[in-house]
Amino acid sequence: MATERTFSILKPDATARNLTGAVNAVIEEAGLRIVAQRRIRMSDAQAKKFYEIHAERPFYGELVAFMTSGPVVVQVLEGENAVAKYREVMGATNPAQAAEGTIRQKFAKSVGENTVHGSDSLENAAIEIKQFFDDKDIVG
Ligand code: ADP
Ligand code: MG
Repeated sequence: MATERTFSILKPDATARNLTGAVNAVIEEAGLRIVAQRRIRMSDAQAKKFYEIHAERPFYGELVAFMTSGPVVVQVLEGENAVAKYREVMGATNPAQAAEGTIRQKFAKSVGENTVHGSDSLENAAIEIKQFFDDKDIVG
């Protein structure tokens, strides 16, 4: 197993309910290290670019509107197998299908407002991290 970095976002439904610490506790208890973190308001352009892979999906407009509706916390997580590990800790996209103890099972409200984003591959993790962090701001 290799040490990896993955990209995470605590979405606006998380910050609105003051869940930053509660979600971070689940992340850290899973053995992932938060090696960079910043609270931002995502611009429309940033959200559109970040989710451009979903541009043709029917929920794209709703997703961009949601991600820009309030503050988000962008993070870099580091650990053994971090990409797959975080996907497991997050739980299924639809919280109704998320396993017990996962972030989405504990906190998410709906398939759209589902509390967290996590990269789906090592390659995408690198691309996503670059969109929000400079190397010098990641302290492993
Ligand atoms: P994941 O975040 O689990 O990787 P996807 O990449 O498939 O899921 O989708 C990206 C995001 O788009 C989801 O996290 C969710 O916020 C939103 N989304 C996905 N499917 C739907 C849907 N059917 N209706 C509304 N929003 C959705
Ligand atoms: Mg995805």
